Amino acid sequence: MNRRSFFQASLFAIGAATVLPSILQAEERRRGGSAAGAAATLVDPKDAAAKAVNYVHLNTEIKDKALRTDRNGVKFEAQHCKSCAFYDASKETTVAGKKAGGCQMPFAAGKLVAAEGWCTTWAKKA
Ligand code: SF4
Repeated sequence: MNRRSFFQASLFAIGAATVLPSILQAEERRRGGSAAGAAATLVDPKDAAAKAVNYVHLNTEIKDKALRTDRNGVKFEAQHCKSCAFYDASKETTVAGKKAGGCQMPFAAGKLVAAEGWCTTWAKKA
């Protein structure tokens, strides 16, 4: 390898080392992964799948008396995502000023639900 080839190869290696991490992070974000800097998002109550289970960020937003019922001996007022069997507290963080965590229901896949939220699939923790 002559001097010119050596410098060309060195410049290529430096360029690749500089750009490659950015490309990998962008790809991870595109796939919905958790690359550094990727922001967690809350389930949008207006999404069709969330609407189907009446998901809200605050259980006080539920005004329909037919929904505001006791479940498994728990008063409606005490039913929140954070007290639900499907809530995943290991993913808790703060999103848009709200404490939020994971939810095992398919409609919440890849997103978070508000700790004070609620939906019709609420279930008492065992
Ligand atoms: S299943 Fe439970 S944790 Fe998930 S949105 Fe409904 S009430 Fe919240």
